[in-house]
Amino acid sequence: MFTAGKTSIDWREIIKILKDKFGELIESDKPLAPFNTFGTGGMAKLFAEVHSEKELSSLIKESNRYQLPIFMLGGGSNLLVSDYGYDGLVIRNSIMGLKVSEEAIIAGAGESLQEMVDFATNNGLAGLEFATGIWGTVGGAIFGNAGAYGLDISSALKSVQLVDKQGNIRNELTSYFEFSYRNSVLKKTGEFVAHAEFSLRAGKKEEIRKKTDEILAERRKKLPFEEHSAGCFFKNIVDKNYEHGKLPAGKLLEEVGAKEIHYGGACVFEKHANIIINNGSATSKDIRNLAEILKSRVKEKFGIELREEITYLGTFEEEGLSTDL
Ligand SMILES: Cc1cc2nc3c(=O)[nH]c(=O)nc-3n(C[C@H](O)[C@H](O)[C@H](O)COP(=O)(O)OP(=O)(O)OC[C@H]3O[C@@H](n4cnc5c(N)ncnc54)[C@H](O)[C@@H]3O)c2cc1C
Repeated sequence: MFTAGKTSIDWREIIKILKDKFGELIESDKPLAPFNTFGTGGMAKLFAEVHSEKELSSLIKESNRYQLPIFMLGGGSNLLVSDYGYDGLVIRNSIMGLKVSEEAIIAGAGESLQEMVDFATNNGLAGLEFATGIWGTVGGAIFGNAGAYGLDISSALKSVQLVDKQGNIRNELTSYFEFSYRNSVLKKTGEFVAHAEFSLRAGKKEEIRKKTDEILAERRKKLPFEEHSAGCFFKNIVDKNYEHGKLPAGKLLEEVGAKEIHYGGACVFEKHANIIINNGSATSKDIRNLAEILKSRVKEKFGIELREEITYLGTFEEEGLSTDL
């Protein structure tokens, strides 16, 4: 049963109402494992894939009538979904489109970040090379201010079309987003990215391509391109004494012997101690438990509380979290 205000409505009724209004857009009991890079987790009670800001807006407005919890899914590359799934509506952002206008690119939030980097390169536009090889969508990158090599998505962002929690559509400039290391105001406001405009520089195609090829080759050496992971699990620690102003969480994890620790089907990537891998049989609980163990080891040895870079979706508390091996 789902409680909306004073009235209790069962899921069947909500599903029926939404299906009557939105037709095939609405799916129920949708497995989420195929939609995240760990490849784990349970089902979304309700699921919809939206292709325009208007579709997103009207879905939010209708869902709000029943106070349905909403989660926006991008590429699922920075996400751990509970094995119990999510009792709410998962909206997969598939707002696509890449347009070039002089030295700017306008992208749909559901476009893959890599597609946008390639598009910029093919149009002789520089400024996004650092993002080569970062998984996920344009919207997800803005939400978490994704970055690498000391640069992040905020460095090229000009403006964003947002849909707020009431379903209203509006535009905001970069200054609105209060960007900092792997952080944006969206983590507080819960607003959704529909489109984004990036301000780039004209450059020589061959030079831009050479740079992106080099970055990709470098990343392939260090990152698990073939495995099920979400990239770095924990944020680095902001500390101006280190390169790019961050003490790498991977360095601390290396020193507590993270690479030797595993839990069920979850283990740590052999080339990078801050990357947890699903070896093929892991549950989300395994991954979460391994993360808790790693956190407690670092806390014990260095007194530092690691903070997750990834997002948790759904309930984990009931799953009997344990920090014992
Ligand atoms: C092998 C590997 C390497 C990686 N390397 C890097 C790296 O170098 N640097 C880096 O920063 N990250 C890296 N990542 C992590 C990940 O790729 C980024 O965090 C990415 O930006 C997540 O985007 P996504 O679309 O997959 O988001 P998801 O995982 O789908 O969602 C993550 C969060 O973003 C929110 N979100 C998604 N779309 C929207 C939207 N349209 N509007 C509002 N909120 C939204 C979700 O609600 C969720 O809270 C790596 C991941 C992998 C698997």
